[in-house]
Amino acid sequence: MRRPCCVLVLMSMICTAAAAQETYVHAGRLLADPASGRVDARRTVVVRADRVVEIREGFVEAPAGVAVVDLRESFVLPGLIDSHVHLCHENGPDDRMHRVVNTSADWAIQGVQFAARTLQAGFTTVANLGDDNDAIFALRDGIAAGTIPGPRILAAGNVLGPHGGEGDIHGYRWDVIEAVRRPAQCSGADDCRRLVREQIQRGADIIKIVATGAVLSDMAAGVGQQFTADELKAIVDTAHGLGRKVTAHAHGADGINAALAAGIDSIEHGSFLDAKSIELLKAGGAYLVPTLLAGETVKRWAMDPDGFLSPQSRAKALQVGPKMVDATRRARQAGVKIAFGTDASVAPHGTNAGEFGLMLQAGFTPLGAIQAATVNAADHLGLSGEVGSLAPGKAADLIAVHGDPLQDIAELQRVHFVMRAGRIHRND
Ligand SMILES: [Zn+2]
Repeated sequence: MRRPCCVLVLMSMICTAAAAQETYVHAGRLLADPASGRVDARRTVVVRADRVVEIREGFVEAPAGVAVVDLRESFVLPGLIDSHVHLCHENGPDDRMHRVVNTSADWAIQGVQFAARTLQAGFTTVANLGDDNDAIFALRDGIAAGTIPGPRILAAGNVLGPHGGEGDIHGYRWDVIEAVRRPAQCSGADDCRRLVREQIQRGADIIKIVATGAVLSDMAAGVGQQFTADELKAIVDTAHGLGRKVTAHAHGADGINAALAAGIDSIEHGSFLDAKSIELLKAGGAYLVPTLLAGETVKRWAMDPDGFLSPQSRAKALQVGPKMVDATRRARQAGVKIAFGTDASVAPHGTNAGEFGLMLQAGFTPLGAIQAATVNAADHLGLSGEVGSLAPGKAADLIAVHGDPLQDIAELQRVHFVMRAGRIHRND
C-alpha cells in the first residue's frame, strides 16, 4: 500500500480535476453513525468520486448529469469491516496438498475470487491476518488501484511464529518442510526483531503472530503459550517503532496474558481468556476479536465422523469451539473493547455475516454487534478517519438491506447493495 501511494494520490487528483463522478444515494432509513445508534428516515447521501461529501435531509432531486441510486425502500449503513480473514485460501480436506503444490500466483488467483465474494457480502474493509506475502500484497495493491473488485485490505502477509511451533509446517519429511515453509519463524528476541523488520520491509501493514497453539495445525501441542515473554516484547516494540500494530492469535490464557503483558494491540480468538486477561485487556485498551464463526465451524467439522480433521485437530476443535462464545460473553460484560472478526477461510468467504447471530448468543444487542463491525473495527485497525461511519470526508463505503437489522440481525446476511469507494459493486 505504501509503494504506489504517490502515484495513487496523483491519479486521484487528476481524476478529481477532470470530472468527479457524483452520485445521490436516496436512503429510506440511514444508520450513518453506528456509535450514536440514531436511524434517520429519508436521507440523501451525496457521493463525489470515492468520498461522502454531504448527507442531506429528504430525497434531494439530483442535478443533470448526477447519478441517482434508489434505496428509498432500504436500510442503509456503512460498509462492514471484518478484522480477521484469510482471503487467499479456504480450509478444507486438501490443505496439506495445497501447501506443497500451490505457488504464490495460485494463492493470489484464489484471493481474487474470495475478495470479490467478501465484497458482495457487504464487507468493504478487511484485515487479512495471514497469507503468502507476495499473493496478499499483490491482491491488496490491485484492489487499492481499482484493477480488481474487493474490500480495502490491511495485510499482515506471513504469520510470524516460533520455529517448530504454531504457524510452522508439521508432519512432512524434513526436506519438504524446508522447501515449503514460509520465511516467518524466529527464535530468540534478536531473531524476532530481525523478522519483524523484514516482514514490514516486504510490505506488511500489520504484524500477526501466533502466541499459542492453534486448532487447525497438525501438532499435538495444545493451545498454550509458544513464544517466550522476551520474544513477545521484542516483536511488539520493534513493530511499534516502525508504526505497525501487532495482533496475536491466542487461545490459552497463558499466551493471551503474556502477549498482553508485552503490550500487544489485540487478541484474536481469546478462547480461554481468564480474569487476568480481562484486566490486562482493559488496562492496555487492547481489542478482542472473537471469531465465533470459526469456532462454530471447526466444532461442526470435529463432530462429523467422516470429517477431514486430523485426530490432533479434532480434539482441539471440540475443546476450543464451545469456549469462544463464553469467553466473548465474559469479556463484553466486563467492558472489554471488541472488534468484529470471523477468521473467514475456516468458514467460507462471503458467509462472514454469520458471525452476527453468534455475537447475539454471546450477549450483544444487534446495535452492539453492528458497532463491533463498523466504528469499533475501524478504531481497532486505525482507520477511524476513513471508514466505520458515513460522514463528509469519509470513504463512500455503504451497503443496504431490505429489512431493519436492528430488529433482525440476520438481515445483514441478505445485503442487496454494495458501494465501495464510490463505486457500485452490487445492486439487486
Ligand atoms: Zn486466522
